[in-house]
Amino acid sequence: MSNTDRLYYNDSYLTEFEARVIAQGAVAGHAAVALDRSAFYPEGGGQPGDRGSLNAFAIVDVQSDGEHDWHVLNDQADLGRLRVGTPVRGAIDWAQRLDHMQQHLGQHLLTAAFSATHGYTTRSFHLSANSVTIDLAARALSAAEVAAAEGLANSVVWEDRPVVARFVAQAELATIALRKPPTVTGPVRVVSVPDFDHSACGGTHPRSTGGVGQIVVQRWAKQKNGVRVEFACGGRALRAHQRLNHIGQCSAALLSVGIDELEAAVERLRTSNDVLRNEIAALQDTNLSYFARDLAHRALQHRGRLRVVAQTLSGQPEYLRSVAQRLIDHGIDIALIGAGGERMQLVVASAAASGLDARSILAVGLAPIGGRGGGSAILAQGGGPAQEDPEAVLAAMLEALPRP
Ligand SMILES: [Zn+2]
Repeated sequence: MSNTDRLYYNDSYLTEFEARVIAQGAVAGHAAVALDRSAFYPEGGGQPGDRGSLNAFAIVDVQSDGEHDWHVLNDQADLGRLRVGTPVRGAIDWAQRLDHMQQHLGQHLLTAAFSATHGYTTRSFHLSANSVTIDLAARALSAAEVAAAEGLANSVVWEDRPVVARFVAQAELATIALRKPPTVTGPVRVVSVPDFDHSACGGTHPRSTGGVGQIVVQRWAKQKNGVRVEFACGGRALRAHQRLNHIGQCSAALLSVGIDELEAAVERLRTSNDVLRNEIAALQDTNLSYFARDLAHRALQHRGRLRVVAQTLSGQPEYLRSVAQRLIDHGIDIALIGAGGERMQLVVASAAASGLDARSILAVGLAPIGGRGGGSAILAQGGGPAQEDPEAVLAAMLEALPRP
């Protein structure tokens, strides 16, 4: 048992108290003091320790080592003003404590509801500033199962049943249907919601279930061996609703629909986006075809009986490749495409009938720029540092072509 008289056991709404420092110590290298009595909750059972102050000194965490409940100081220097025997006035951060109490009792109720409705047991509970979760021993969870458990838990909240916490001797313990066997020996603190749940728990709870306000399940996902359920209670549930409502209203306004039409409007937007994407692809294809046909006339050069186009363009490698291939489609024997930019890009397309290997032609262009590339006999592509003018490189490649 702790040497600290835990005032929150009898009154979880106690926010200020008088006490005396009985020991100085450290928690993970941070200065801390122990008191003869305290309303501060030390971290345990998935619930974080309280924050607050002792006299004017900030307390950032409370940890129990079984012997003492250590109130961790924000500032090491405060230890000098909190020597053993010093009387202190303690105050806990009530907003944080109330939030913890709502999430914590909400967890008792939701856990009991999943057990009552579907026989799923809760393996673990986690509460942090950003999320509250339980891990259920279930293979999967359906939306209907979640709705049933959520509904039952909230009905117990709205019935505003009393929450009774008391220490029970081992002999009596056997007569109580505890949700889980206790992990401590000796008298066990049992927290009961009549006709619903009995849990061995050392935590802080609202005095009645109504204090939880509401319990909303936000999402759930399969984990390695169970299902993790994320939820929010009380003030958190309200803030989650406010955030979602803001997102929903803003999104609906952007689409000029009411919030109830939002889902259908997003669906329509997606469909129309797919149609537009296809139309754009078709237009680009047509445009590319016209561009290549025009280029095949405008930039046509003859090397012996070879019909050649050597042209600098700007664009992505894929675009350059498409232009080169279209030029071949439009009767060109050899297409040489170059592009500047951060790296010089070179593309060579060769009509199969020309008998010329695109890779050998590309090699002529890559050699002076120290570039690399590859491809097939009819289409090769490469690039290198863009120190040279692509026009000059294309001219050299053109010059090296045979004149059959
Ligand atoms: Zn509890």
